[in-house]
Amino acid sequence: MKASSGLGRLSKLALRQRKQGLAKLLPPVTEILRGSLIERYVTCGNPACKCARGERHGPMWYLTVTLGPGRTTGGIIGAEHVERVRTWIENYHTLKDHLEKISEINRELLRRDRKQERKQ
Ligand SMILES: [Zn+2]
Repeated sequence: MKASSGLGRLSKLALRQRKQGLAKLLPPVTEILRGSLIERYVTCGNPACKCARGERHGPMWYLTVTLGPGRTTGGIIGAEHVERVRTWIENYHTLKDHLEKISEINRELLRRDRKQERKQ
């Protein structure tokens, strides 16, 4: 067993309570987005513009989404959507993280049941 998880020290009841607690804290599964927001300051190409002297335009926001090895997609995100996209990305990570923890707890519960069966 992984010593780092610390689940081995908890009672079965505590493990069940912990996974119920995690389930209650799951963000709504419809409010998620997998990807990263990137902030950029850009030049417009006009040599007379202040950006040509180093005062770049921005921030401009981009979403990048990895589709597979070497394949990404995404696009510009308007400033008015940045907060919503940020929340969706956070929700995605929270959801994934909590599902992984629940999965770990269930593996620990299975281990306990196997141990108990062997004793009988
Ligand atoms: Zn410019």
